[in-house]
Amino acid sequence: MISNRIGRLELSPTLRINAKAKAMKAEGIDVIDFSVGEPDFPTPADIKAAGKKAIDENFTKYTANDGIPELKAAIRNRLKEDHGLEYADKEIIVSSGAKHSLYNLMVATLNRDEEVIIPAPYWVSYPQQVLMVKGKPVIVPTREENGFRLTPEELKANLNFNTKAIILNNPSNPTGSAYTRDQLMEICEIAAAEGLLIIADEIYEKVIYDDYRFTSIASLSEKIKEKTVIINGVSKSYSMTGWRIGYAAGPRDIISAMAIVQSHTTSNANSIAQKAAAEAMSGHQAEINRMVAEFQSRRNYMMSKINRIPDISCHQPQGAFYLFPNSSAYYNTEYGGMKIRNSYGLCYYLLKEAAVALVPGSAFGADDNIRLSYATSMDKIEEGTDRVIRAMAKLTESPKYKRVALQNVMTHPQKNIEMDTAVTVEDRDILVQEAEAALPYDRYFEWNANINGIIIQLRTNVPHLYDFWVENWYPAQLESDLEPHGIIYAVDGVPGRTSYGYYCPEMRTAVLFNTSYYGQIRSLALGMVAQASERLLDVHGLRAACVDYGGRGLALIGAKGMKRGSSFIRLLEDEKARFLTNDWVYVRYRGDEAIADAPERKFYFKTDMAKDFRHYARVFDRSKCENVVTKRSDWSNMKELGDECPLDLGEPYCYWGSKDSRALVDAAWIGGPQKYVKRSHLKTVVMLNFEPNAPAVEKLSVEDALDYVTEGKYRLPSGAGMSPYETQPFFNPYIIGSSVDQDDLQRRNFHQLFRVTDAYKVNIASIPPEALKSRIRELI
Ligand code: PMP
Repeated sequence: MISNRIGRLELSPTLRINAKAKAMKAEGIDVIDFSVGEPDFPTPADIKAAGKKAIDENFTKYTANDGIPELKAAIRNRLKEDHGLEYADKEIIVSSGAKHSLYNLMVATLNRDEEVIIPAPYWVSYPQQVLMVKGKPVIVPTREENGFRLTPEELKANLNFNTKAIILNNPSNPTGSAYTRDQLMEICEIAAAEGLLIIADEIYEKVIYDDYRFTSIASLSEKIKEKTVIINGVSKSYSMTGWRIGYAAGPRDIISAMAIVQSHTTSNANSIAQKAAAEAMSGHQAEINRMVAEFQSRRNYMMSKINRIPDISCHQPQGAFYLFPNSSAYYNTEYGGMKIRNSYGLCYYLLKEAAVALVPGSAFGADDNIRLSYATSMDKIEEGTDRVIRAMAKLTESPKYKRVALQNVMTHPQKNIEMDTAVTVEDRDILVQEAEAALPYDRYFEWNANINGIIIQLRTNVPHLYDFWVENWYPAQLESDLEPHGIIYAVDGVPGRTSYGYYCPEMRTAVLFNTSYYGQIRSLALGMVAQASERLLDVHGLRAACVDYGGRGLALIGAKGMKRGSSFIRLLEDEKARFLTNDWVYVRYRGDEAIADAPERKFYFKTDMAKDFRHYARVFDRSKCENVVTKRSDWSNMKELGDECPLDLGEPYCYWGSKDSRALVDAAWIGGPQKYVKRSHLKTVVMLNFEPNAPAVEKLSVEDALDYVTEGKYRLPSGAGMSPYETQPFFNPYIIGSSVDQDDLQRRNFHQLFRVTDAYKVNIASIPPEALKSRIRELI
């Protein structure tokens, strides 16, 4: 097989649409073509005559590589007359089209991995050319409300040491938007000050409308000129696309490098075409005005038609010959079984249904839009837009079906398995041998997690566990001769074994057989790290949901059933509240400070909260999930089901059908990256309890708070009133094993915590859920 460098490149999408349109035409269908990128006017007679004359005079040999003097003189003259720009012959190169000049420039200037800033929507060939020379296109989306113009802020935000160049296409294909002189000045002053090469594609300079005044970038200032290469040609201004003449004007060293590239690839541009182009650029320019006047009335007409389509908005172009309306309101519609999800789908539909060819915005890096060219006759524009209007009117909203949670895995079992947590070192060695023997070489996954500085290694044959593990934690770099602080084996499919786990505290090794449930692996890891760091580093593993208010942290502690999860979500609704963790922090004490660090990269959420907080379903849709119900029989509580089963109502899955379903959520998806902090200083501890007739909020002394957590006594709300008392010491199910020693350690840790924070008991039996947020907020 021949390997090629351009595997990542694509055929121009215009060509793909054209190919489809052509096939339809061959079947006798009258396709109206709004996809063309060239003026539809004939080349003016005097220009054609100049070409003929060149043939007659046998001007049919190689010419000077970088262009005939006559044409260079015409180019120099145009630049001078139109823009007041002075260029020497050696600062100009003539190529086989502007596209060719541009490519010469890329080859001559770009080194591997150097970045080129390309504002989007962009002309399709820019990123592809950058890729061809192994550079890195940096696509910077512009905003429709800014007229698709790059702002200085957007430029600055994308600069780095690797930035080599910026491409500015003014006026723009595909948006038709154009920069004023001042706007160009702002952008180019930054670019020049940063030493960037400014690639100014000004091929549409003459095709401009209304009172727009075009400014050539090189004419902004001498300093900017020194950094600018103008790309231009005769294709658009003189309706000469097929003649293939373009040129570049810029600093001499760059132009001569381009000439070298050209000399080894194509040599001179076509001799006859050069003569014709010289005539075009030096002869009467009046033809251009006629052409542009015609384009302007077509633009106005096409705009008025397109704007009649409901929910379509179209930015008014100031140049070029394209409309670039926003068509995204039609994504998620359908007609006749054809579903439209994006710009390509819409163009495909319009081609099939209306026999009108357009280009999807995705080709230009803007999937919300489609491009219509008005480089075609008024009759065609009238008929074609009518067809588009009719076809768009047929589209109706398609029933929104959710993508099935492909990321979902049903584990077995769906809950923690029993464990022996006091395994001796000898037994541990035997168990490890057994686990190792059951880990096949072709299905073995191992990954070191860095959990607050402690390294825990997972060894497993379950892809799901590996997947969640890698997603959940930050990676640890292990030097070759170092051992992890703890190891977890999770081996599934071991014959003759029930689902059971073992933990050897001395070697900090866990061996779990026949489980694929991630929740337990995560709890074990957190518990092992706590064990390793509590004694060694005086770091306290605290099971709590934590919220930060401008650097002041609040920890929410509660036994199971105390609605800690939903209280936490309610607290987050506060604009000032930021997310530290939904479950676990490691706390260090320094003087009067309790510094809490969140160890997890992603957060393990119970998905049943989507029942109360519907918008979280969106977040879970994007997350890796575990045990989300997709079958009626997987509901954990069939009695609750009733007639409301979302699965029966056509939903492919249900986030609250199972008590055991979880999602691994990126905190930044919840309220954006600014809603998340990794560290906070704890000031307040809130312990949730359920105790009818007790006060709503009670401040606790250090001793009372300590007694309260140590005992971990709680009651759950139950149908009849109150359940009997239960206990969960330290409200922490992650503590592995139990010993007098460990209890002492926990007491010591909590003592430190309560010494530097205010502790409260908050009684959810006497506060309605909606009021909980403000009651807790008052405690900060
Ligand atoms: N730049 C832009 C923005 C264009 O739209 C085009 C043609 N579609 C070109 C360059 C290439 O022009 P030429 O025919 O001179 O290669």
